[in-house]
Amino acid sequence: HVARAEAVRDLPAETLDGHKVRVAANMASVDELGVIMRSGAQEVGLLRTEFLYMRRDTAPGEDEQYDIYRSIVAGLKGKPLTVRTADIGGDKPVSYLDRPAEANPNLGWRGLRYSLAVPELFETQLAAILRASAHGPVRIMFPLVSTVDEVKAAKQRVQSVMDQLRTRALPFDEGLEIGIMIEVPAAAEMADLIAPEVDFFSIGTNDLTQYVMAADRANPKLKDLFDPFNPAVLRMIAKSIKAAHDADIWIGMCGAMAGSPIAAPILLGLGLDEFSMTPADIAEFKLTLRGLSLSECRNLSARVLGLDTARSVREQASLFLGRHK
Ligand code: PEP
Ligand code: MG
Repeated sequence: HVARAEAVRDLPAETLDGHKVRVAANMASVDELGVIMRSGAQEVGLLRTEFLYMRRDTAPGEDEQYDIYRSIVAGLKGKPLTVRTADIGGDKPVSYLDRPAEANPNLGWRGLRYSLAVPELFETQLAAILRASAHGPVRIMFPLVSTVDEVKAAKQRVQSVMDQLRTRALPFDEGLEIGIMIEVPAAAEMADLIAPEVDFFSIGTNDLTQYVMAADRANPKLKDLFDPFNPAVLRMIAKSIKAAHDADIWIGMCGAMAGSPIAAPILLGLGLDEFSMTPADIAEFKLTLRGLSLSECRNLSARVLGLDTARSVREQASLFLGRHK
């Protein structure tokens, strides 16, 4: 079975009835480049940039970040790179930044909220990402968005950094795509009004599940509640996908659910365009996908949205997959 998965690694991510999706890798350090290039990924759907800020005493400067992003872009040889701006705070603390202790870090000053509050840090990173976009396809993605206003403010920052780069006569890709993560219920609920502001969405099921279910993603006592297959989470995913497509933008997923084979028929049926996962999961994912037909997946996804437990969703998806192996 593993050998079969290996053999499909470089084949297109295409269903039996010819529906294509994009399969991408998640990345969290430069060392993963070789593995990603051998994984069958068409692109990097999520570069977690927190690694740049951790295990050191000061924040990385623009040139240091630019060198790293540029070397990743070069190593990807034309495959698009989605750089997520620093998702600091919450479960990703950075000790040297002057941040107050919080009673609820996951509901705290984190992700894009923090970036917008500390413009020097944010603009330094945006400048480095934009400069890297002169060397190959790069996208910018913002984490933990809750409101339309946050998206507008972040885009204004990008515009102002673009102006600064023009003044400095430094090249960047004028048409680079700007997107957001859908990982806060407010953003999923307001997706129809956020979509016209951006080029793409990417669903972060780890945080989305945590916030929809009010269940700490790291608390083992809450394992049963912290389940992206819960219909409450699936309905938010379905709503986000519909809002994206109604606004003619694409939508991916970079949370752990994207690489789960039993999630594949459901997400495919809901119309997800891009699946970004741990590189080690890609071969198996493609094997599953290539045995499915979109029309049957659509029936399955419509059915599971009406179920009342995560357990019954998993059962239905497993039965479905069993019939298509
Ligand atoms: C997520 O929340 O699903 C996600 C992809 O981001 P992270 O796991 O880095 O919070
Ligand atoms: Mg997240």
